[in-house]
Amino acid sequence: MLDIKNLSVSYGAIDAVKDISLHVDDGEIVSLIGANGAGKTTTLHTITGLVPAKSGSIMFNGQDLLKTKANRIVTLGMAHVPEGRHVFTRMSVQENLEMGAYSLKDTSHVAEDLDKVYTYFPRLKERRRQLAGTLSGGEQQMVAMGRAMMSRPNTILMDEPSMGLSPKLVKEIFRIIEKLHDEGITVLLVEQNAKMALSIADRAYVLETGRITMEGKASDLLHDEKVRKAYLGA
Ligand code: ATP
Repeated sequence: MLDIKNLSVSYGAIDAVKDISLHVDDGEIVSLIGANGAGKTTTLHTITGLVPAKSGSIMFNGQDLLKTKANRIVTLGMAHVPEGRHVFTRMSVQENLEMGAYSLKDTSHVAEDLDKVYTYFPRLKERRRQLAGTLSGGEQQMVAMGRAMMSRPNTILMDEPSMGLSPKLVKEIFRIIEKLHDEGITVLLVEQNAKMALSIADRAYVLETGRITMEGKASDLLHDEKVRKAYLGA
């Protein structure tokens, strides 16, 4: 379980995240929605140790993440699929995926896990020798997700997986997120595509200029008048 309490994060004088509390229970999909600059990415970066917190606490399965280095956090079973994918452009698809297994002590499952990623993303299998930098945006998103899967996570943080993708690819990516969830993986999903994010999630939080302004069951938020007006173009 991931439990964030009273978290505040600043970049110098800019308060990006202001006293937010949220939790993600084991096996849940929780979405964090909000406009550009609301603080969604900052929240994920603070969870995975890439940005320091100003105050508050982040506990993950009994571990204090604010006292844990980023490279240790991945060994606790938390994987991060970053905004913009950040694939290793000069490495092949397969090398990128293998990098995801880098933190594992027991590497006896790597071949089996690669096969599994390729059954999730057959397109990556076809392109396994291609340099990742030459892939389309959707294919790079698949590499980023596959790379996260290779670390055998129990929890995946996904930052804007739908960004820049065609509606068809967005559907495909969300279908995979559901599949991971069906396997028991916990997901914290950051999205500007509120409709998709609320359709798939159990619960959701709305972040506005660094503060959580609404939270609840995703199906309730999907039908909420304020959410519909602000985020669903209704
Ligand atoms: P987006 O969807 O555009 O990525 P977001 O909700 O993820 O938006 P953040 O990227 O977390 O929002 O940004 C929150 C606020 O913090 C914004 O005002 C942004 O300009 C600021 N910010 C983000 N990163 C930095 C940084 N490295 N230095 C200074 N300010 C930053």
